[in-house]
Amino acid sequence: MQCSKCGNPKVIYKREQSGQLLCKECFIESIEKKAIKTIKKEKLLDKGDKVLVALSGGKDSVTTLEVLDSFRKRNIIDICAVTVDEGIANYRQDGVDIAIRHAQRLGIEHKVVSLKQEYGITLDEIMQRENHKGSCTYCGVFRRTIINKAAREMGATKIATGHNLDDEVQGIMMNYLEGNTDNLTKLGAKTESQAEEFTVKIKPLREIPEREIGLYVVAKDLEVHFDSCPYAMQSFRGEVSEVINQLSEKHPTIKYSTLRGYDKIKNILKEELKKDYAHGRCKRCGEPSSNELCKACSFLEELGL
Ligand SMILES: [Zn+2]
Ligand SMILES: [Zn+2]
Repeated sequence: MQCSKCGNPKVIYKREQSGQLLCKECFIESIEKKAIKTIKKEKLLDKGDKVLVALSGGKDSVTTLEVLDSFRKRNIIDICAVTVDEGIANYRQDGVDIAIRHAQRLGIEHKVVSLKQEYGITLDEIMQRENHKGSCTYCGVFRRTIINKAAREMGATKIATGHNLDDEVQGIMMNYLEGNTDNLTKLGAKTESQAEEFTVKIKPLREIPEREIGLYVVAKDLEVHFDSCPYAMQSFRGEVSEVINQLSEKHPTIKYSTLRGYDKIKNILKEELKKDYAHGRCKRCGEPSSNELCKACSFLEELGL
């Protein structure tokens, strides 16, 4: 066995979807090239952008930071980062510490915001309430609100998230299975919201499978938080992910074909399902919202906060 690219006999990875064999150096290079290709193809960056990386300290966000840093080193963009501390015991603190160390190593502006500081409650405390709506519902909404606010406060022009191929395909399938056509049109490499106050979100890793990102951080010796969220397995996303992974064993290109198919119909869906958004503001926090209360504030009211 030898590397399909350079002939090096030390092969570390076989790409199931193509049969390609790769040595460590060629594997690292292939991941970085793929992310850069997505960035260029989807026009994710403009010169002079200040990109806020949503940095959890996990493999996906650390890889996103690493890839974007190559653009910062060439003075094309500036980078800053935010880490959201949801307040999950025996889990989140390690990620926060790792995020802090990466930001210091690269010398970038970094902010840690906790749910406790921001809303007076941790995710663990919410999960002890009766009739809660499930951890991911709160986590997703509160985290999004905190990241959007941080982007404005730090003067960011784009928000980069670490969504990988698996995340993106799960999102497509989940929304499809749930019949949530509204959210289905919001996926994609670049998400521009109706409200101007929401910063454009970009996903440079969306064409890279999760396992390849896991191998990339190991091959590059990047410090990451490998534990998965203790609440993850309770979620519908977890179930959908299992089914897709099972299918991929016999059909190794299925994640890519799902993504390509979605990309082809996304704009048609968006056009067909276009809604008139009321450009209102939340009466409680002032964030842009199409309802009287934004999602985060309606959850807070329900929780009596
Ligand atoms: Zn090689
Ligand atoms: Zn609000």
